[in-house]
Amino acid sequence: MVSYKELGLVNTREMFAKAINGGYAIPAFNFNNLEQLQAIIKAAAETKSPVILQVSKGARNYANATLLRYMAQGAVEYAKELGWENPQIVLHLDHGDSFELCKSCIDMGFSSVMIDGSALPYEENIALSKRVVEYAHQFDVTVEAELGVLAGVEDEVQAEASHYTRPEEVIDFSSRTGCDSLAISIGTSHGAYKFTPEQCTRDPKTGRLVPPPLAFDILDEIMKKLPGFPIVLHGSSSVPQEYVDMINKYGGKLPDAVGIPEEQLRKAAKSAVCKINIDSDSRLAFTAAVRKVFAEKPGEFDPRKYCGPARDLMEQLYKHKIIEVLGSDGKAL
Ligand SMILES: [Zn+2]
Repeated sequence: MVSYKELGLVNTREMFAKAINGGYAIPAFNFNNLEQLQAIIKAAAETKSPVILQVSKGARNYANATLLRYMAQGAVEYAKELGWENPQIVLHLDHGDSFELCKSCIDMGFSSVMIDGSALPYEENIALSKRVVEYAHQFDVTVEAELGVLAGVEDEVQAEASHYTRPEEVIDFSSRTGCDSLAISIGTSHGAYKFTPEQCTRDPKTGRLVPPPLAFDILDEIMKKLPGFPIVLHGSSSVPQEYVDMINKYGGKLPDAVGIPEEQLRKAAKSAVCKINIDSDSRLAFTAAVRKVFAEKPGEFDPRKYCGPARDLMEQLYKHKIIEVLGSDGKAL
């Protein structure tokens, strides 16, 4: 058993309370390799933003659970080396799909876990989430649970159809599970194709897809039912056109990729939404930078020469999200 406290990590409790009161949101960036981790920590350290390092089941298998634990510990030390005296870094399991997986993460130094029982019948979701909460809270690990189903693909988690969170269920669900935060479905979606062209309108000037707005009315109702309770938005990449264009320009093929407009996320960040998950955007930045190097320098075969620019572009992206979208800069001095 390794406690996250020994690794220098923190759980989400205090971080979320401050974010709700302060009208900003904490970035939850997924990572599964060295360059992503370096870019996230550098961006967080330089902006003094609390940050959630997020790992899915697939990423944990990809990177190796033991290596990950030391990477997270290394991230804390690296942050200090960068001059961030009091790093506020969470290591969080994204979309845990079983009690056993959540327990394994808690036992190996995670400070926060998500149990995603959203595809289960309501009572089963409650039973599973409650079981994880009871285990996690013994070690002061915080738990995110989910109500409502998001569309899209995230590693092995795939849902064909989404349904919005039902506000009439949130009080019962949160009180019976004891969860610390609640992921809701209000129209965000996983992946780089969040909406089909049929769901969107087209901007007559640019010809680009304009996605349907998020269901802020449902978010408002949920906040009325659970005042001050931390809300989480998954699938909140914006799919920046500049990266999509770069990828397509240098030999990629991502037609009509579309995400959540940043002004909608900015609005959400000011509410009880205190954790915003961003994964696809960093994948796009990484891929765009690598493709550019490959296209312009076909003779290049030193991974540092193409992963380096990818890392730099991701760092830029993370800083942009922290400062311009979530407003979490300067909140972890
Ligand atoms: Zn998700």
